Amino acid sequence: MTQADENTTVVIVGAGVAGLALGTFLLRGGVRCVIVEKHAREHVENRHATSPATPTSSGTPG
Ligand SMILES: Cc1cc2nc3c(=O)[nH]c(=O)nc-3n(C[C@H](O)[C@H](O)[C@H](O)COP(=O)(O)OP(=O)(O)OC[C@H]3O[C@@H](n4cnc5c(N)ncnc54)[C@H](O)[C@@H]3O)c2cc1C
Repeated sequence: MTQADENTTVVIVGAGVAGLALGTFLLRGGVRCVIVEKHAREHVENRHATSPATPTSSGTPG
């Protein structure tokens, strides 16, 4: 596989959990990315989560 250089920008189609997770990993790795989503930002931000993103005091998602 070819290494990403400083000119690489990854285009991710879909701001679901897979696209958002991939975007996070890429950005943490220093690779620029753009996420293209067919719905409005409000739709993405208001999707229901199965459990809170932050762990409870017991360390498990509540
Ligand atoms: C009715 C229902 C209930 C569910 N309930 C739960 C639950 O309670 N808990 C749970 O853990 N999982 C649940 N799931 C499963 C969960 O939604 C999926 O596992 C998860 O959303 C898959 O993530 P994904 O990123 O692969 O796809 P998606 O979440 O489907 O994300 C894909 C994104 O790509 C966008 N997109 C698609 N085509 C294009 C295009 N051509 N151009 C631009 N953007 C595009 C879509 O708008 C969407 O935002 C449920 C699924 C369904 C259908």
